[in-house]
Amino acid sequence: MSVSATRVRFAPSPTGRLHVGNARAALANWLFARKAGGAFILRLDDTDRERSTEEFARGIEEDLAWLGLDWHEHLKQSDRLPRYAEAAERLQEKGLLYPGYETEEELQLQRAAQRRRGLPPRYDRSALRLTPADRARLEGEGRRPHWRFKLPDEEAAWADLVQGDKRIPGGELSDPVLLRSDGQPLYTLTSVVDDIEIQISHVIRGADHITNTAVQIALFRALGAEPPVFAHLPLLVDAEGHGLSKRLGSLSLESLRTEGIEPLAIAAYLARLGTGDPMEPVESLDELATGFDLTRYSRAPARFDPEELKRLSIATMHRMPFERAAPRLAALGIANARPEFWDAVRENVEALSGPKSAELLHWHRVCHGTLPAQAPADPAFAEQAVALLPPEPWDGETWARWSEALKRATGRKGRALFEPLRLALTQRSHGPELRNLLPLIGHARAAARLRGEPA
Ligand code: GLU
Repeated sequence: MSVSATRVRFAPSPTGRLHVGNARAALANWLFARKAGGAFILRLDDTDRERSTEEFARGIEEDLAWLGLDWHEHLKQSDRLPRYAEAAERLQEKGLLYPGYETEEELQLQRAAQRRRGLPPRYDRSALRLTPADRARLEGEGRRPHWRFKLPDEEAAWADLVQGDKRIPGGELSDPVLLRSDGQPLYTLTSVVDDIEIQISHVIRGADHITNTAVQIALFRALGAEPPVFAHLPLLVDAEGHGLSKRLGSLSLESLRTEGIEPLAIAAYLARLGTGDPMEPVESLDELATGFDLTRYSRAPARFDPEELKRLSIATMHRMPFERAAPRLAALGIANARPEFWDAVRENVEALSGPKSAELLHWHRVCHGTLPAQAPADPAFAEQAVALLPPEPWDGETWARWSEALKRATGRKGRALFEPLRLALTQRSHGPELRNLLPLIGHARAAARLRGEPA
């Protein structure tokens, strides 16, 4: 494997399902790899044993597959614990890892005091001043140390593909804890060890990781590796400019899926949000990949608008070719759907799954199934309508010929003519063009429905 090859990773923690924020990171990595002909790696950051579950891991994989994102390699951090221990040892040998004995409460108090004085919360490095005797005493009290990485005092600088030139003064960063007192390695370390060993070329993630990047760049170097290229996507915010975190439940991929939102619409929406590109339907993920360019993202937070996503989902469905719709129709219980059916109804329905797909089932019953009996409002008119039904075969012109003949025979026109026919044939006052529906309904059903019989 050449080190210049494009290799990216999506690294969710299996402590919940995917929401639109991390789905966007997944998608950006996938599209980037796709465009470059590189590899997209799925890495489960599951070292937090209390919060990670197998069930969430499977859920994340299911969500990614539903979105259409496949991976070339798959790994999970819990399989790689010896690698992290070995890296920690190397840091220790270099004198870059030091033990701290503060409890979480003590550290919290320290941060609160700093905030009160208007200072950024930053570890004061008091553990570095402990003498061997101090340590022996603390250990004697039964305290087990956590281990911190000693950051260099220099500024962190990188050319970010989205954020431009970033510079973070060393004085603003806090020495990160790499190992907990129970020995569990933490994200800052595990992520860098993996990014080095699996030869990640580009790290693409949300702007909430910018400070982590400043710290991790130092860690890459301390472990003897050149850092990858970084790209930090703008944060997603709601209409009021707040982070989406409080509403994550409703913005999980799982809930969007249940609602019947099209996965391709989610992909198009998330890929384009913050780029200024128009929110128009796409045919495929490949179409998105072709136009994908990280430098098009604005640095400003991007406003996530669920209504705009819904509109894009509907437009995506309306444009969906029959071949792509057919398996979805089958999943709804509409087996052997005909292209004519899909073409007749697609622009009048809003979803291929979820609660709104009930409309699709209704239109399928209208065209190919049975509607319950419904007495005609005007039996005499209905009888005339039956009598004037042209003989089969029917085509796209049948409706015009029939309604024209009825108009001449009855003197009715406009709504008075069309509404009773539409109601009798479809049991709805609005819907797809009757010229398209009629040939699918056929003579036998049409005649029976006009008479008020179940058909
Ligand atoms: N597990 C981390 C997260 O979900 C990964 C961040 C990264 O991409 O490095 O935030």
